[in-house]
Amino acid sequence: MVKVCCAKNCRNFWIPNTNLTFHTFPWSNKQRLEEWMNVVPSKSRIGKYSFICSAHFND
Ligand SMILES: [Zn+2]
Repeated sequence: MVKVCCAKNCRNFWIPNTNLTFHTFPWSNKQRLEEWMNVVPSKSRIGKYSFICSAHFND
């Protein structure tokens, strides 16, 4: 499966040998999930297999 960032206006996708990492949404942690939802403009459908790239996180 190709990992593509689901954030609006972000066209990052996973390619080897980059610092970019991709994360699935923390469905089991509602508090964190809400934080991530705030980071990601929820224009697109966020599903179980949606990814968000590390470009949206400061650490
Ligand atoms: Zn992204």
